[in-house]
Amino acid sequence: MTTRPLLLLDVDGPLNPFDAPPHRRPAGYETHRLKPDTWIAQHHGVPKRLVKPLRVWLNPAHGPALLKLPYELVWATTWEHDANDWIGWRIGLPRNQNLPVIEFDSQFVRRSDGTYVKTWTVVEYAAGRPFAWVDDQISDIDRDYVAQHHPGPALLHWVDPRKGLTDDDFTQLADWAARLDTEGPVR
Ligand SMILES: [Mg+2]
Repeated sequence: MTTRPLLLLDVDGPLNPFDAPPHRRPAGYETHRLKPDTWIAQHHGVPKRLVKPLRVWLNPAHGPALLKLPYELVWATTWEHDANDWIGWRIGLPRNQNLPVIEFDSQFVRRSDGTYVKTWTVVEYAAGRPFAWVDDQISDIDRDYVAQHHPGPALLHWVDPRKGLTDDDFTQLADWAARLDTEGPVR
């Protein structure tokens, strides 16, 4: 039996197109105003009730579309475990079924060699297993790092944070997984 590749999911950018013009919510999205504890903690000393909620746009069609892809879904977001509590069911993933979470050392945005804070953790998590990674902060430096340190196939798929995941992104993810299948056994 073959193992499905991993699909590593960023939230802000791919699922929440935060960079779209503020008064033009992209089609298909719903507006949520959320106050997760991690957001409150960023407002040092401000009482919870006074913290302005975080505006998040989410598309309830994304969950079902992700579940149709031949991947195993994993959160790869600075929302970390909050993604299960606050995001997953709002995009239409099953409410009682938490996805695995990659935990990041989020102290640094980029390392001194220019790799994104998530990149080496992602490579470590995948441990040689094929993965696609959707994120709005992937650069060529990260692609090089993955090429050098990850022995299996990998797709680093940049998503425009003004648009979020589009039909075209879903098609590319499906095609990549299909090619893996035809190009030999997947570990
Ligand atoms: Mg992002």
